[in-house]
Amino acid sequence: MLYSELVETYEKIERTTRRTEMTAYLVALLKKVPSEIIDKVIYLTQGKLRPDYEGLEYGMGEKLVMRAIALAAGCSLKDVEETVRKVGDLGSTAEILLRSKKKGVSLFDFMGEVQVERELTVNRVYDTLMKIARASGEGAQDTKVSLLASLLRDAKPKEAKYLIRTILGRLRLGIADMTILDALAISFGKGKGSREVIERAYNRYPDLGYIAKVLIKEGLEGVKNIGIHVGVPIMPMLAERLRTPEEILQKLGGVCIAEYKYDGMRIQAHKKGNEVTLFSRRLENVTHFFPDACELIRKHIKANEAIVEGECVAIDPDTGELRPFQELMHRRRKYDIKRAMEEYPVSLFMFDVLYVDGKDLTLTPYPERREVLKSIVEETDRIRLAEWKLVKSPKELEEFFEQAIADGCEGVMCKSLMPNAIYQSGTRGFLWIKYKRDYKAELADTLDLVAVGAFWGKGKRAGTYGALLMAAYDPGTDTFKTVCKVGSGFTDEDLAQLPKMFEPYIIDHKHPRVDSKMEADVWFVPAIVMEITGAEITLSPIHTCAWGVIKEGAGLAIRFPRFIRFRPDKSPEEATTVQEVIDLYRKQRKIVSK
Ligand code: ATP
Repeated sequence: MLYSELVETYEKIERTTRRTEMTAYLVALLKKVPSEIIDKVIYLTQGKLRPDYEGLEYGMGEKLVMRAIALAAGCSLKDVEETVRKVGDLGSTAEILLRSKKKGVSLFDFMGEVQVERELTVNRVYDTLMKIARASGEGAQDTKVSLLASLLRDAKPKEAKYLIRTILGRLRLGIADMTILDALAISFGKGKGSREVIERAYNRYPDLGYIAKVLIKEGLEGVKNIGIHVGVPIMPMLAERLRTPEEILQKLGGVCIAEYKYDGMRIQAHKKGNEVTLFSRRLENVTHFFPDACELIRKHIKANEAIVEGECVAIDPDTGELRPFQELMHRRRKYDIKRAMEEYPVSLFMFDVLYVDGKDLTLTPYPERREVLKSIVEETDRIRLAEWKLVKSPKELEEFFEQAIADGCEGVMCKSLMPNAIYQSGTRGFLWIKYKRDYKAELADTLDLVAVGAFWGKGKRAGTYGALLMAAYDPGTDTFKTVCKVGSGFTDEDLAQLPKMFEPYIIDHKHPRVDSKMEADVWFVPAIVMEITGAEITLSPIHTCAWGVIKEGAGLAIRFPRFIRFRPDKSPEEATTVQEVIDLYRKQRKIVSK
């Protein structure tokens, strides 16, 4: 299959903002793909070579890419730099420079008398990109440059544009995983239930290339049999929220296990013999940041193979007290990990087990899972089960909540004891209900919103952003709808770093997945998630979140929004949804009317 067929589809996808159209283009493409390369096509379309959790990177920054373009276009590095300055991005630069070269030079190679056009195939593109990613050690940079140049030499100008964007991690077709699941179900599924079966497999084994391959080769039955694998992260189960202990207990049948809700980072630990891999809530491989946590799992999880979940929390080693979430973020650095480990030590508070020595526990009810967890965690002062209590009355729950807050937690997690209390991978449901301190403030919960644009600051804030345009996620249309402009809550340090932090995401137009009536000074690719609190949710004539849902000609907005912290552990698709904003608005109304 030719790479140009992918590029044609990418161009069509880029021209539309409708999810249904995007899906239709994808379906048309997938149906043409030979089964042996379906995984490669899926990964390339996602802008990757393997699922993210494998952490494979090209290791080519802009400088190296410019060298490759110069080499392929037969021009100087200075020419490349000048063109970038004029057109803004390296993808278009490659397109322009290669086009001008190819006007002068023949597109063909000569083999004797016969002219052979060396068109790029999907296989060649994928395999070469893989070689680029795998090149390491001495001379790796030169190898990467010459491999990329070899592809660019044979690329049509448009293909070059997409290759460069892929290498720089900026393909940005705006296709969410859910859209790919839809397209797979339509292309290769059978009937109505297909989508559900495929999504269930994806929640257990979130590798779309692999799922597509199984689907095309073994059909839906094969997909149904995709099981859990130690080393492949499972999509996390998430909690719903309610405002009062009464509501929570009523929902859970009058009794539940309440656990401390620790304010740290969720860790899914996979243990296979002595090998330990840690995944974040976003399924990134974070093993290298936390050698100490790996050691705790290796030593104190008494099973040969296991998948367990817990919260990794920064602690004060002298007192054992919990430290704030922000301190833990110092651990997500690439260098000097040993020092970070000494300065910001961590403890693990385990709260679930999904797999032990050949047994998948995700369909086992929570009380039993907890017993298994208890039996395999050897508790020390650094690794323990989450503090818990069986509660049967609102009073007991309230008291346990106060105790959790006093001990430095965010609140409590209330977990169902019912026989159906399975591990609902990838789902936010009422089997877990969170009860947080913020609920006692005016808004029932903080919101995790995506920055989609910015406004330049004035006076003291000249040179940085004065406010950011924030949006909630709408999974139905796969778009981001604006809900507030946030300018307060930032420290001077936060403010100073904003332009640099957002620089890689700046685009010269509103992103196709962003729905905004406001004109921002600067637009971003939706990428960075921030936790925001506010006084209340109000109707708004300018924000597009829940437009027309509560009232015709109005959306919902947050009044007096305030920045709390960055949420690097969340992807934009994991941000607060439009529906959640609507629910918060309705809950707040109910309380006012009470
Ligand atoms: P929040 O923004 O409130 O942290 P979230 O959207 O990240 O929530 P939720 O499903 O709402 O995720 O809350 C569950 C999170 O709480 C988990 O992802 C985990 O990181 C954390 N947590 C802390 N203690 C526990 C516990 N005992 N059981 C389950 N999750 C816990």
